[in-house]
Amino acid sequence: MPIENQILQTVYDTSPDAIIVIDETAIIQSFNKTAERMFNYTAAEVLGQNIKILMPPYFANHHDNFIERYLRTGERRIIGIGRIVTGQRKDGSTFPIELSIGEAKTTDRRLFAGFIRDLTEKQKVEQRVHELQEELIHAARLASLGEITSMVAHEVNQPLSASGTYLEVARELLNSNDENDRARGMKAIDQADAQIKRVGDTVRRIREFARKKTPELALEDINRIIEEANAIAAVGSKARGIRTTFDLAPQRPEAKVDRIQIQQVVMNLVRNAIDAMTGHDRRELILQSRLTEADQIEISILDSGPGISEATARKLFIPFVTTKKDGTGLGLAICRTIVEAHGGKLWHEKSSLGGAAFKFTIPVQVQG
Ligand code: ADP
Repeated sequence: MPIENQILQTVYDTSPDAIIVIDETAIIQSFNKTAERMFNYTAAEVLGQNIKILMPPYFANHHDNFIERYLRTGERRIIGIGRIVTGQRKDGSTFPIELSIGEAKTTDRRLFAGFIRDLTEKQKVEQRVHELQEELIHAARLASLGEITSMVAHEVNQPLSASGTYLEVARELLNSNDENDRARGMKAIDQADAQIKRVGDTVRRIREFARKKTPELALEDINRIIEEANAIAAVGSKARGIRTTFDLAPQRPEAKVDRIQIQQVVMNLVRNAIDAMTGHDRRELILQSRLTEADQIEISILDSGPGISEATARKLFIPFVTTKKDGTGLGLAICRTIVEAHGGKLWHEKSSLGGAAFKFTIPVQVQG
């Protein structure tokens, strides 16, 4: 074997990425050792099979179309770009992967090589960094909220106590028989009134401040947002062994949304579902999207966790209410604010999997 081929063979055998080559009909042509370990299949089991067996059913159902469209139009959605998507092992469990695809053309056919990195198998250090980042985000959110809260308390408290004092003075003066006193009493009432208006102004300013973060709207593929958000939320050890099923609207609905914000909502809801299922034997997650008759896209996250008790349900969306040791209790409150800013609704129900189902809607109609 020439040295170049030996080198190539070694790279292929020992690559930390799984390398899978398929032909243009998606039939697996080669499957390296890392791929065997990652997906728990032997090469012998998958060679000659369609690549679909390594994906959750939803993607599997669409994969032929993806390839067909690429071959027909040459439009690149993933080739040469790389994306975070979801893989499925032999036992049906799902895991987040980073997938890059390269294309090779020989005289008589085209081959596609997939390079796959298992994101759950990242180095412990990386995972720790990720956790630390999360903690930081939590802390930052808390800090800024804490600051805002004390600022508001201060700004509101001062004029309120001043107006209280003016009113007390006014009560005495207005009871006086002296006309001058009564005139001063009326003036004190005006002053109290001015102070109360100041409170009103402060509240309005805070509202405007909050409203400044208007969503940056663009027409987005909602299914894609869900796929990506789920894959990102599934990074980390907590998500190990969860079986995720996608049941996404075949029309691939689009809506004008702030992609980052909606992704944040889905990530939050998926993380809550993952947290709720920690320690449960049955760990199943369903991600759904569908078009409703009212021209809305309804997105649902169903889990097989313990569900939500009535006591928790009553306080679910109240900021700072959490049942978790390291929770902030802000996730759902923020999710609801984001969804409502998009003209949608967010609520929860019992899920068909036995746990909770969080659902939200986004109007398909272009937002103003
Ligand atoms: P945090 O996650 O920081 O506690 P959230 O506002 O996101 O804040 O959630 C508030 C509470 O709602 C959680 O502490 C948990 O008790 C409950 N909860 C949220 N999602 C679920 C779920 N899928 N299953 C069961 N309980 C949930």
